[in-house]
Amino acid sequence: MRRLKVAVADAEQHMTDRPVVSFSANDRSRPCVVDLAPYAVVDVHSRGRVHAEPSAWPRSEFQRDRDRIIHSTAFRRLEYKTQVFVNHEGDLFRTRLTHSIEVAQIARTLARALRLNEDLSEAISLAHDLGHTPFGHAGQDALNACMQDHGGFEHNLQSLRIVERLEERYGAFDGLNLLFETREGILKHCPLAQARELGELGRRFLDNQRPSLEAQICNLADEIAYNNHDVDDGLRSGLIPIEQLEQVSLFARHAEEARQCFPLLKKRRLIHETVRRIINAQVTNLLAESSRRIAEAGVVTLEEVHVAPTLIAFTEAMREENRAFKQFLHEHLYRHYQVLRMTVKARRIIEDLFDAFMNDARLLPPQYQEMARMNQPRAIADYIAGMTDRYAMKEHRRLFAVEEV
Ligand code: MG
Repeated sequence: MRRLKVAVADAEQHMTDRPVVSFSANDRSRPCVVDLAPYAVVDVHSRGRVHAEPSAWPRSEFQRDRDRIIHSTAFRRLEYKTQVFVNHEGDLFRTRLTHSIEVAQIARTLARALRLNEDLSEAISLAHDLGHTPFGHAGQDALNACMQDHGGFEHNLQSLRIVERLEERYGAFDGLNLLFETREGILKHCPLAQARELGELGRRFLDNQRPSLEAQICNLADEIAYNNHDVDDGLRSGLIPIEQLEQVSLFARHAEEARQCFPLLKKRRLIHETVRRIINAQVTNLLAESSRRIAEAGVVTLEEVHVAPTLIAFTEAMREENRAFKQFLHEHLYRHYQVLRMTVKARRIIEDLFDAFMNDARLLPPQYQEMARMNQPRAIADYIAGMTDRYAMKEHRRLFAVEEV
């Protein structure tokens, strides 16, 4: 295991008067290490940053990663990117931003209970959707289709591209210069062809290894968050009647429990009482099953986690219930005609924008024109992926509306 590099590049040394510190056993910058499980990721054993930097003290190194993500432009854009409902459809629906915060909240609970690195799980959770296009999965599918002959587009890889290259905030490097383990966690999946191009970061896909438990937690915290808030939003929008949801055992069971506790409860509160019970059941199930798997596998070190089977998991019974829950959402919410109408519109907007910029790169803003000289389709994909829903709609009007906008 390589120790975190803390040497400071000459260029940075005169930018700061902070002391250059090295990590040692009594280092003040590692308060989170104390009660962690032996297989948790810790700052001192991190595989480091691409560009060496001074210590993050008084923060931990992973707290610094989290802070850089929160301060990034891509993170703020999440506020106006669709989860299921396009932003202008209502003020109270989830957006990518509130989704990411909910994922981080669940992931931190799980990480702390399992004595894992909470800061790392939080950082990965907050960054996991940075690469999403406008208009949710409809946008991703449309952009991927446009990029079919140019290497494709995948939001997960785009999240990595943002934190490694596209953010322009620091003098000494492009991107956010995050720790290896944070970037490893952001890259949830990756086709083998692309993994070969990613060097060390792609290695685990080629070697069929698992990421840290902190990263595994984020995958399932993501699933818990979106299933539950999509149900909540679906009910709020009126697209799913509550009676229909009662066909799903996971929902029906917890709704019944909520009714027994509060027989006179009005619908809005009943929904909340039900959803919070489901989240609690999923989180406690995940904790119990993951603890069992960790004990059974007998892992003691992080290296053993990498070669062990996936250790953060639901029980088979809960997995089955979750499958039925997701199936319901696919059939009744994501394919609801009112959602599909927006999906079709979104696809057209993305395709029109992509074609217009491919036909004439001079229509791109100057910064992207420069990038387009190196690789036009990729520069266009970066530009479009970075748009918020409303910016994409406005840009479409600017390019295609005959009347003045
Ligand atoms: Mg997500």
